[in-house]
Amino acid sequence: MARYGMVIDVKKCVGCYNCFLTCRDEFAGNDYPGYSAAQPMSGGNWLKVNEIERGRYPHVKVDYVPVTCAQCEEAACLTLDQTGAVYRRPDGIVMIDPEKAKGNKDLVNTCPYRRIEWNEELQVAQKCTFCAHLLDAGEPEPRCVESCPSGALVFGDLDDPASEVAKLVAAGATEVLRPEFAMGDKVTYANLPKKFVAGTVVYGDVDEVAADLEVVLGEVAGSRITKTNGFGDFEFEGLADNADCTVKIEAPGYKAVTLSAKTSRDIYLGEIVLEK
Ligand code: SF4
Ligand code: SF4
Repeated sequence: MARYGMVIDVKKCVGCYNCFLTCRDEFAGNDYPGYSAAQPMSGGNWLKVNEIERGRYPHVKVDYVPVTCAQCEEAACLTLDQTGAVYRRPDGIVMIDPEKAKGNKDLVNTCPYRRIEWNEELQVAQKCTFCAHLLDAGEPEPRCVESCPSGALVFGDLDDPASEVAKLVAAGATEVLRPEFAMGDKVTYANLPKKFVAGTVVYGDVDEVAADLEVVLGEVAGSRITKTNGFGDFEFEGLADNADCTVKIEAPGYKAVTLSAKTSRDIYLGEIVLEK
């Protein structure tokens, strides 16, 4: 028996929303008896794509983070449900029985991750099923995964070392959005947004950007080196939260500059002017 899981690589997600739209296409107005009642024609948000804006003008970046039910090992929805409406299949998928769950709005609040939706029209709590109705019919993956043009979503058997999903997990795609909820390893991430330190270097005497100049980041873990691009910009990405670091810039004939930064947020240091 497979143990289904998904890896979401945030670096590959281009924010096209195909996964969201395909989920709506599969479930809105479509009833799958024994699996799920139809999603409403508006609302219904079993998979959402969070858009995360980072930095400040003029150094702004956007990351897209798809979020769905984590099919938790220690599923709070299953533990807290008193009615028997929530159950786990042998392949690990956590299901909400659309008949038994009717009228039980409290189920929505059992998920600490807020991944259960209330269908007002049908008066039933609903969530992602990993397209269990399709898997049981022999399809290899949920429709969101099939529709992703960039390969950001990978699905398969976590217990099969030859599966792509298991290989990604083995290679380190084991980040989770909310570690404090201890949701297990069924839906994990690679390349979740961390923090960056960036800036723009300018030669003050001639008022020109300093291109191709070495910039050194010092942090507890060691140091990293990068170079400014043709616009004088540099960036160190993937830094830990709340890390104390220094940015050092040296150019022949100019005074060295060292700046301090704390990555409590993404940091754009602004224009750093080198003086003779
Ligand atoms: S993410 Fe929420 S709805 Fe999904 S299994 Fe975990 S507790 Fe249940
Ligand atoms: S379909 Fe793929 S690339 Fe598009 S938003 Fe979803 S995960 Fe991202």
